[in-house]
Amino acid sequence: MKILVINCGSSSLKYQVIDPSKEEVLAKGLCERIGIDGRLVYQPKGGEKEITEPSLPTHTEAVQAVLDALCNEKTGVLKSLSEIDAVGHRIVHGGESFANSAIITEDMIKAIEACNDLAPLHNPANLIGVRACQKLMPNVPMVAVFDTAFHQTMPEVAYMYGTPYEYYEKYKVRKYGFHGTSHSFVSQRVAVLEGKPYDSLKTIVCHLGNGASVCAVKNGKSVDTTMGLSPLQGLLMGTRSGDIDPSAIEYFAKKENLSFAEAMNVLNKKSGVLGISGVSSDFRDIEAAAKEGNKRAQLSLDMFVYKVAKYVGAYAAAMNGVDCIAFTAGLGENDATTRKNVCSYLEFLGITIDEEKNKTRGEEVKISTDDSKVRVYAIPTNEELAIARETAALVK
Ligand code: ADP
Repeated sequence: MKILVINCGSSSLKYQVIDPSKEEVLAKGLCERIGIDGRLVYQPKGGEKEITEPSLPTHTEAVQAVLDALCNEKTGVLKSLSEIDAVGHRIVHGGESFANSAIITEDMIKAIEACNDLAPLHNPANLIGVRACQKLMPNVPMVAVFDTAFHQTMPEVAYMYGTPYEYYEKYKVRKYGFHGTSHSFVSQRVAVLEGKPYDSLKTIVCHLGNGASVCAVKNGKSVDTTMGLSPLQGLLMGTRSGDIDPSAIEYFAKKENLSFAEAMNVLNKKSGVLGISGVSSDFRDIEAAAKEGNKRAQLSLDMFVYKVAKYVGAYAAAMNGVDCIAFTAGLGENDATTRKNVCSYLEFLGITIDEEKNKTRGEEVKISTDDSKVRVYAIPTNEELAIARETAALVK
C-alpha cells in the first residue's frame, strides 16, 4: 500500500510517500514559496536530493509538481498516480468535533472549517492542501489526521480554563493540546519497549523541538498536555513564550504601543529561547553561544529545562505516579545534555540516568539505569508514519 502524506502550510507543503506495512519512506520533500515564485525539493529513497524552481502560483500547482516528480520517468518512485492508494492530511485543529482521524467528506470539511477560528493560520492552509489534492486526484480517498484528536480524552478538570463558563459554551474556549500524533506514537512505542499493555502504563512524553509540549498519557489516553487553545501555552519554545501572566501582555503592549495582534505576534514569533537569548531560535546555535560564555543563551537553556522538569513533576502528580518518561523530537531525540538536565530535577522520583546510554542520538534507547524507579527513554517520533498508518487503517 502506498500513502501520500501531506502537511500543508500557507506557503509551503511537505510530503512523503510511505508504505506503512513496510514502514518504508519511498520519497519525501517539500514545496516552498507557493504563491511567490516556487521551489520544489524532491528526494527518492536512496537517491540524491533534487531542487528545482517550478512556478507555483497556488497549492494546486504545488501538488501537481509533487505528483509529476513522483511519477518522473527517471527519478520517480511511482509508475503512475494510480499507485497512490490514499492521501493522509495533517490537520492542526479539530476542535471538539474530532477525537479520531476520519475519511474526508464534504460534511467533514465543513466541520473542519468550523474550527478555522481556533487555528486561523493553520486550518485554512491545511484545507487548501485537501482541495488541491481532491482536484488532481478526485477518486483517491483522503483522510484527515488531527494534531488535537489524541487529547480529546482529557478530563474536564484538565481542559477547562478558569474563564466564565459561557465562553466555553458559546465559543469553546478551552485547552485542546497539539502534537497529538507524536505523543500517541511515542507513548505506544514506550509500551512496546516495556513489553506491557498500552492501557496499563502512566507515561509522560516530552516532545522537545522548536515547538515543544509535554503530555501525560494514563492507560493509553492523554489526560493533560501543556499546549492550550493554541500552541502558545506551556513550555518555553523556539520563538513562543509559553505560559505568561496575561496581565504582562496588557502591560508591555501599552508600553510598546502594540495592537493586540502585534502583541500576539511578539509572543508567538519573538519570544521563547530566541527572545531570551537574543541569539537564535535554534537550540544548536544557543548551545554554542552558551559554551562561549553568553549568559542570556545559558539562561534561555536553563529556563527551557526548568519548565520541562516542572511539568513532568506536575503530571506525575496529575496521574498519581509515573512509570515511564520519553524524550522525543529535535532536542529530545538528539540532545543528551537537555535530557540529563531535565532528569537531574527528577531524582526525587527515583530517576537515575545511565550517562553512557544517554549519549544516544536519534535512536530508541532506554537511558535510565536498571535500578531507576521510573524508566526513561529517548524515542524518535515519526508523525508522517503515524499519519500513513492511520490513513491506511481507515481506507482498508
Ligand atoms: P519542529 O518540528 O518543531 O520544527 P524539531 O523537532 O525538528 O522542531 O526540532 C528542532 C530543534 O531541535 C532545533 O532547535 C534544533 O536545534 C534542535 N536540535 C536538533 N538536533 C539537535 C542536537 N543534536 N542538539 C541540540 N539540539 C538539536
